[in-house]
Amino acid sequence: MKVRSLIKIIESVDGGIHLTFFRPALSLPYAARDKDYAIEVARRFCLETIDREGRPWIDFWKGRGGGVTCPEGFVKLPIDLWCCKLTGEACNIQATVNPEDEPGFRHGCHADSDKQDKILKTIQAGKYDGFHHVPGRSLCIACEEKGGKKETFYYHFPWEFAELDVAIGQTYEATLGLLAKSDISRSYAMCPLCASCCYEEAIRFDSELDGQLKVLEFDAYFRS
Ligand SMILES: [Zn+2]
Ligand SMILES: [Zn+2]
Ligand SMILES: [Zn+2]
Ligand SMILES: [Zn+2]
Repeated sequence: MKVRSLIKIIESVDGGIHLTFFRPALSLPYAARDKDYAIEVARRFCLETIDREGRPWIDFWKGRGGGVTCPEGFVKLPIDLWCCKLTGEACNIQATVNPEDEPGFRHGCHADSDKQDKILKTIQAGKYDGFHHVPGRSLCIACEEKGGKKETFYYHFPWEFAELDVAIGQTYEATLGLLAKSDISRSYAMCPLCASCCYEEAIRFDSELDGQLKVLEFDAYFRS
């Protein structure tokens, strides 16, 4: 399976190179020979992070038992708090729905009962598959809005996400303003986006960022 990470590389006038990582959020000057070498160093760093954090993360998610991730759930990063798309609030059941435990779900989920019916039906109909096969991924709202892919492809691992404001080098408030001006949903700044979407949205605002932002692609083998 391919996973992606976004990085930002700024070549400064004094010849130095500045690297920005999104997961973990890290920004540092790097004395690289050249940009290609800096990308190589960044690639190794990302791969090590994915390798170190990926396995325990996947194991943790397997430990969520028979639960299926609620189709209305999304993770608020970097604190990994599951929230509800319907209400925007933190989800009491952390978006884990056990189809065998309807009362538990009804009690925990704060959506209204019509919405609860819909969620249960979706899960029980098995139309909504994939999430328990590849646990631990969260929705990229930009992927979902673009559509056109199998639903599971809208979901990404934590280390694939990036913040649009950091990518375009603007403050959070300025980014909200830019989004509003361009008639793009403010949630693109409020929720992290997957590496590819963050890149795409960023260069829509400033095409010159194309030279600074890079989507790194890796093969992940921690599936079992
Ligand atoms: Zn909920
Ligand atoms: Zn829910
Ligand atoms: Zn996306
Ligand atoms: Zn995507």
